[in-house]
Amino acid sequence: HPEKWCRGFNHFISQCLIKDFEKRPSVTHLLEHPFIKQVHGKDMSLQKQLAELIQEQQQLGSMARTRHERIHTRRAYHVDRADKYSLDDDLVNLEVLNEDTIIHQLQKRYADLQIYTYVGDILIALNPFQNLSIYSPQFSKLYHGVKRSSNPPHIFASADAAYQSMVTFSKDQCIIISGESGAGKTESAHLIVQHLTFLGKANNRTLREKILQVNPLVEAFGNACTAINDNSSRFGKYLEMMFTPTGAVMGAKISEYLLEKSRVIKQAVGEKNFHIFYYIYAGLYHQKKLSEYRLPDQKPPRYIDNETGRVMHDIVTKDSYGRQFEAIQHCFRIIGFTDEEVYSVYRILTGILNTGNIEFAAISSQHQTDKSEVPNPEALDNAAALLSIGSEELQEALTSHCVVTRGETIIRTNTVDKAADVRDAMSKALYGRLFSWIVNRINTLLQPDKNICGMNVGILDIFGFENFARNSFEQLCINIANEQIQFYFNQHIFALEQMEYQSEGIDATTVEYEDNRPLLDMFLQKPMGLLSLLDEESRFPQATDLTLVDKFEDNLRCKYFWRPKGVELSFGIQHYAGKVLYDASAFLEKNRDTLPADVVVVLRTSENKLLQQLFSSPLTKTGMFCSYSLMDLLSKMVVGQPHFIRCIKPNDDREALMFSHERVLLQLRYTGILETVKIRQKGYSHRILFEEFVKRYYYLAFKAHETPLGSRENCLAILEKSKLDNWILGKTKVFLKYYHIEQLNLFLREVI
Ligand code: ADP
Ligand code: MG
Repeated sequence: HPEKWCRGFNHFISQCLIKDFEKRPSVTHLLEHPFIKQVHGKDMSLQKQLAELIQEQQQLGSMARTRHERIHTRRAYHVDRADKYSLDDDLVNLEVLNEDTIIHQLQKRYADLQIYTYVGDILIALNPFQNLSIYSPQFSKLYHGVKRSSNPPHIFASADAAYQSMVTFSKDQCIIISGESGAGKTESAHLIVQHLTFLGKANNRTLREKILQVNPLVEAFGNACTAINDNSSRFGKYLEMMFTPTGAVMGAKISEYLLEKSRVIKQAVGEKNFHIFYYIYAGLYHQKKLSEYRLPDQKPPRYIDNETGRVMHDIVTKDSYGRQFEAIQHCFRIIGFTDEEVYSVYRILTGILNTGNIEFAAISSQHQTDKSEVPNPEALDNAAALLSIGSEELQEALTSHCVVTRGETIIRTNTVDKAADVRDAMSKALYGRLFSWIVNRINTLLQPDKNICGMNVGILDIFGFENFARNSFEQLCINIANEQIQFYFNQHIFALEQMEYQSEGIDATTVEYEDNRPLLDMFLQKPMGLLSLLDEESRFPQATDLTLVDKFEDNLRCKYFWRPKGVELSFGIQHYAGKVLYDASAFLEKNRDTLPADVVVVLRTSENKLLQQLFSSPLTKTGMFCSYSLMDLLSKMVVGQPHFIRCIKPNDDREALMFSHERVLLQLRYTGILETVKIRQKGYSHRILFEEFVKRYYYLAFKAHETPLGSRENCLAILEKSKLDNWILGKTKVFLKYYHIEQLNLFLREVI
């Protein structure tokens, strides 16, 4: 039929034109083609196809908007052209190496919005303080199993390196992200998870979605707005992503460290409580459900009303908190929490908020001046109702305590201050345990099939080094943790490297670095380290924060500790990242972190099954938990191959494109970047046993059917055949520069 034939012909011609035009920069040219113009309105599928093409081009156009994107896009077209490798991408290539040249280079790159720079195999990430569109699916595709030098430095490249290394060598990997608060660690961790889920394409789409919800959920409970960062992590997080031997994602697991529970009951000026409290309060406000959870709608509960008036204003006028609440509900659902569990979580959260509103007043009678009562019994009733416990029992537990003396149980009353402390201790315990439960529940829901023996990539994102106007127990714990991470970094980059050179009989010029071991010893040594002294003092009922500082002063006789004159409760520590002055008030109480048995007994009677479960396990003493749990973590990491990401905060004002010379220099100094560059330039970051080396690369010099021995000579044969320079053969290992591996793998691909 001529008409039908004609349609078919038109369609065919259009397809040819489209094919040809796809290579050209603009679809508008195509639309103007006389032939297309003629048939456009008549052919539905052609219309659709062109519309898609236009959309795609628009996307590409917007991608290329900023200068940074232009650079990336341009390079993206040349993925396979090795000559696109820019020497600027790696600080190791600097001819003159000193602080000035490094900082100049970083500054120049930052001005070009090139926030990522390599130091050999380490990635430096400067916080851009603006959204860059370099994390889209196009970029994920770009950084997928290609040579590192094919593309500009990128966080995806680090994730890809860890992933490839895991798959190739069947070895666990860990990515350690460090930097000050607000430097961009948590964002980096998200991006790594995003890219790893892309790389480890699970057949199971729901699993991928679940994994992507883990961070937002956990962060709603563990992050808060601080003076430095609106979304500051108030806990340390180690997220392990598990893969099958072929590299498909099969599950995930989180470990949490040291949640800053004290934030639940009190926040410094200008800071806020954990996000979730505002989300839930605003969500319930907008859903008109506050009364169901017995919360007032005029004034927010005391625990979240730090900046009187502001919170309510924000909640009423802005809907963003409310939307976040919906997002959290969505996260819970996707990950697989049951409705009943989520409801229990809400009741506990609102129970905590109500608990915070309970007040105490002194009853003075002739005999008992230290007795207290609750002048606002409705708050008590509300809290008890939400926690599903008896209101009288709760009041008893808050205002009195049992003492057992000589086999006899006596009930003593609490003073007003003591009762308030017990109330707050209860809130902290409730929140801390709820948080741990959520983390454990996520782990159960994302647990991989036990029958598959997989591998994992762990991502460590802990709170950065902190130095505020007033630094308390929490800052000390955080800074000790960072001190440990720095030690691990030093061990890996410097100490182990030098030891290995020596034992292999290689002369590698040693690079001096700041060893923080003596400082760590001052903290961790037993029985005279700072944390042991703190624990010991916490056990004396008569001890005060002042006796604690005296004890520190008497026992810690080293240059890292000092006590400023005139301020009794204060002491200073010379950390690797700078001097910090600590205020020791409430140190003992925070370290004891005790919850009276009376409260536990009442909470165990709760009709809320979840709450009952939270307090059913025996109470363990928690003092010193901070240092040791992190030590456990470090030992776990040591078995994996580490990848380091150093986040740097270019300015303190969270301004895009602002580069403060001094601030960056300071961070470069204390993270030892200069030394790192030197050692990466001179050093050999890959050390492979002869046998392993021959096994991996024998194709390069031998025939496929041969089985050469893992000997020094055979390694030499392979190395000579591959024409690399600058390698060294030790006694048992081949020493390679970080870029050799890539070259060898490339040769291998060509040969195979
Ligand atoms: P840290 O975890 O080190 O304290 P965050 O990761 O929370 O710091 O980063 C602080 C803020 O900096 C983020 O809320 C975000 O606004 C910004 N930021 C960090 N990294 C990036 C990035 N890669 N792109 C855009 N903004 C970023
Ligand atoms: Mg963070």
